[in-house]
Amino acid sequence: MNSASRDLECEPILKRIREEILPLFESAVVDDRVVFQNPHLVRCWEQLSCDRKHCPAFQKNPVRCWQVVGTYCGGKVQGQFVEKYATCRACPTFVAACPTLVEELGEHLNNMLFLLRAEKRRAQEAMRRSEHLNKELTSALENLDARNREIQEIMTTDRLTGLYNRNYLFTMLEDEFARAARRSEYTFCLLMIDIDDFKSVNDTFGHSNGDRMLSRFGIVLGEGIRKFDRAFRYGGEEFVVVLPDTELAVARLVAERIRYAFEKETFVFVAAGKDKSADVSRTLSIGAVTPSPEVTAELLLAQADEAMYAAKTQGKNRVVMFGGLRNA
Ligand code: GH3
Ligand code: MG
Ligand code: MG
Repeated sequence: MNSASRDLECEPILKRIREEILPLFESAVVDDRVVFQNPHLVRCWEQLSCDRKHCPAFQKNPVRCWQVVGTYCGGKVQGQFVEKYATCRACPTFVAACPTLVEELGEHLNNMLFLLRAEKRRAQEAMRRSEHLNKELTSALENLDARNREIQEIMTTDRLTGLYNRNYLFTMLEDEFARAARRSEYTFCLLMIDIDDFKSVNDTFGHSNGDRMLSRFGIVLGEGIRKFDRAFRYGGEEFVVVLPDTELAVARLVAERIRYAFEKETFVFVAAGKDKSADVSRTLSIGAVTPSPEVTAELLLAQADEAMYAAKTQGKNRVVMFGGLRNA
């Protein structure tokens, strides 16, 4: 065959490749549904005279059985497309579907697209799974965070009064001392508060009424301090307030406000074994202190206690400042 007649023979194939195959390549890039339309596809079960009714390709149209996972050919179950493709290419079903180079190219293109799309689906699924996992992780972290905050609150809070507990007082004092060490002009104050004659509340009206008074005092104290002040239950009926960035003169005003607010509170309690209720009130003795240089947290608390004790010995229901122990 001379070159002129070979050109003539190739011409229709080249024309079909140009018209049918090349546009497919172009459009497959942007359109996910593009496939090569092959009218020469044959039905594998007819081609191979197969009667395996349980084969996933049996009596299904269109039959690109080489793309179907787990077909039953050659007496055994075949695997995925990539595992069986080498064998499938030699199979009479595939050969019959590719009578010319155009169909063969078209089918190879289809198979490449098939693989790419399967890969894309896998990537999308992995992405969905990782997004889902991410969401679950975020929500687990949020739960953990909330749980941590709860635990933190439980560890720093006194249950009866809702105020901070004694442990947290020492953490807070450390912070205040550190701040004062950093800034020479910084000072803070501490109030030591004791309910006067509290034991007689328990003795006369019972422990649970005593608890009610303590609980109510927690509220009164919380309402009497400023946003940045912190109130602690220091012991049974003893309380501490830390007043950051505060001079002693202002601390005295805050202490007086608390003392006055509690003095006005009236509790209606029934004494044990009695029917009639009684109006009960209690007062507060308060010691106030601001740290002098070199003082430690323990010493500061001892000084506040000393001032509070002075308030008791001077007749209770009063505020006494440490440093001169002046009566307010
Ligand atoms: P003072 O004016 O000198 O402070 O006298 P007081 O009676 O207030 O002080 P005292 O130290 O004699 O008694 C304090 C009482 O507080 C004794 C204790 O049983 C009681 N108490 C301590 N913790 C609690 C508590 O959680 N609930 C109740 N109801 N009572 C408590
Ligand atoms: Mg006491
Ligand atoms: Mg007391």
